[in-house]
Amino acid sequence: SKSERLDKILANLGYGSRKDIKGLARAGIVKVNGETIRDSSIKINPYTSKIEIDDEIVEYREFIYLMMNKPKGYISSTDDFRDKTVIDLISDEYKVFNPFPVGRLDKDTEGLMILSNDGQLSHRVLTPKNRIEKLYYAEIEGTVTEEDKLSFQEGIVLDDGYKTLPSKLDILTVGHISKVYVTIEEGKFHQIKRMFLALGKRVAYLKRIAIGGLKLDESLELGEYRELTQEEIILLE
Ligand code: URA
Repeated sequence: SKSERLDKILANLGYGSRKDIKGLARAGIVKVNGETIRDSSIKINPYTSKIEIDDEIVEYREFIYLMMNKPKGYISSTDDFRDKTVIDLISDEYKVFNPFPVGRLDKDTEGLMILSNDGQLSHRVLTPKNRIEKLYYAEIEGTVTEEDKLSFQEGIVLDDGYKTLPSKLDILTVGHISKVYVTIEEGKFHQIKRMFLALGKRVAYLKRIAIGGLKLDESLELGEYRELTQEEIILLE
C-alpha cells in the first residue's frame, strides 16, 4: 500500500537512529529485494519488499499488541515526571513501537492492560458506542448486599451527578471484606470506586480480568506482559 523511507522503516523497527541506518547502508550491508542499497533515504513499500541487514531478513510490522498484568504503583500513561508508568516495564524491543495503554487503570489497580500503537483498535475498544464489557474482581470493605446488586442494575448516581449505565454486580462471598465481580460498559474516572462510594462502601482491592472477550492470562506475574495472539487480537475487532 504505502511507501516510506527505508531509514524511517528500520528506525521504527528498532535498528537505531536514521543516522545509524545511514551508516549501515553506506557499509553495504542493507539489501532490498536482493539488491544492496547504499542510500537509506529511498522510499519502499515495507509490506511487499524483502529487506535484509547483514543477510538477515527484517520482519516488518507496523502494530504491536501486548497484554500486561499491571502491578500496583504504576500509572497507565506513557510518561510522567514523578510516577513510574506501565511503559517503564516494557523492554526496548517493544518500546521502539511507541505503545500506549488502551484505557486507564488507577495507580493502585492491578490486572489486564492492553498496550498497543494501533489507534483504531484503541478507539474501537474505548468508544462508549461499542459498549465493550470490562470485568473486574473487587474486594469491598464491609458487607455487599442484594440491594447493592439492584443499584448496580439500575445505575448509580456518582458524586458529580452522573448516573452510570446499568451494570452488573456478582457477589462471591460476604464478610468484613466482600468479594465480588463487577461488569461495566463504560470507564469514567475511578468509576467502580465511586460507584461503591455512592453506596457508602470502600473498594480495598481492584483487578481487571477481562476486556470484551479478552481475558487476562493468569500465568503472567504482576508486571509481566506478552504479545497478544492472532486469535486474541481478533477478539477485540
Ligand atoms: N474503576 C476504578 O475505580 N478504578 C479503575 O482502575 C478501574 C475502574
